[in-house]
Amino acid sequence: MGDLALEMEKNITYLTPLLDNALKNLEKGFNQFISDPTEVKKLSCLLKDFAGRETALHEAKNLGKLYKGKIFLKREDLVHGGAHKLNNAIAQCSLAKFMGIKNVIAETGAGQHGVATAMACANLKLSLQVFQGEIDVQRQYLNALRMKLFGAHLIPVTDGSKKLKEAVNAAMRFWVANYQDHFYCLGSIVGPHPYPSIVRHFQKVIGNESRKQILEKTSFLPSAIFACIGGGSNAAGIFSAFVSDESVKLVGCEAAGAASLSHGAMGVLHGMETFILQTSNRQIAETHSISAGLDYPAVGPWLAGLKQENRLQTQAILDEECIQSLNELATEEGILCALESAHAVAGAKKYLANNPGETIIICLSGRGDKDLDTISNFKNKSELK
Ligand SMILES: *Cc1c(COP(=O)(O)O)cnc(C)c1O
Repeated sequence: MGDLALEMEKNITYLTPLLDNALKNLEKGFNQFISDPTEVKKLSCLLKDFAGRETALHEAKNLGKLYKGKIFLKREDLVHGGAHKLNNAIAQCSLAKFMGIKNVIAETGAGQHGVATAMACANLKLSLQVFQGEIDVQRQYLNALRMKLFGAHLIPVTDGSKKLKEAVNAAMRFWVANYQDHFYCLGSIVGPHPYPSIVRHFQKVIGNESRKQILEKTSFLPSAIFACIGGGSNAAGIFSAFVSDESVKLVGCEAAGAASLSHGAMGVLHGMETFILQTSNRQIAETHSISAGLDYPAVGPWLAGLKQENRLQTQAILDEECIQSLNELATEEGILCALESAHAVAGAKKYLANNPGETIIICLSGRGDKDLDTISNFKNKSELK
């Protein structure tokens, strides 16, 4: 199991010779970095002291009573910055420094990856330029402000729909022309090889810790693991450590309006061949989700491979179901999770309704403070109905 997933992750789609050079250079640097004991040790110190790892595996006993199962939460909401994104950002920025590159670029949608990279660059004394769609710069003004406070330079992208897809294109274009002195810190397990492998490697810390913690707490592996899927980095991070344990079900929870694994078809986007949401004439479809982090029309090729091997199950979660689970987690446990993470909670709720009494892990990818405006708007709208 997982062979096709690995093959798809390493698949090379059509590339320009310049991009090819940039990616080969990156792969070489990455392989040296992860086999250098000094660098590995430095990174693990940063993860501990700067990012706050390891994160807790917390048994949610009240929610477990309500949903009728033994529920453990992997608390990535406790990572510095409030989400799993820093695990990857601090690691890629350490890699940039190791490769002797002092200028970092990044793309960002809602701004969460931009903020994580800005924190990492400030800490490691690297300069940062962030490409963000103009519409996202405006509607995510607090994250734009955070990035600036950490010293990053924000570049609004005005092409096309002025959102994440265009921001990735702009960052790639810039990188291809400037890769010799710029490092592209990519935010999820997407894009051309080796990015999906690099990001998955750096996020696997979530799964490695969870596996050790659940064995300490229960002496058994869980029957299922739930994670939300945007590009798929938190999901791949936790699933990676359990993929060979065939008794453990892996369940990816997508936004119903951006469910590329459930409803997409094979295609090529951003240098990867994977499931993509497409219209009937094979254009990239417009997506919708209440959570900005899941609002992406494609998914990492590794997860697409697992899905094709039937190793991965998926659930499509509606905005209403997401809000309901966010509320239930808040009132039962005193934890306000991100809208993205609430999709995983909602997926677990549906699963336990049919499989009561099982032990499961939910990857709680982030905290919900960033989403208060969205939650309040959603509630006002529902009351008007
Ligand atoms: C960005 C984000 C996601 C989605 O990204 P993945 O790469 O799919 O993990 C999920 N949860 C939170 C809290 C995020 O910030």
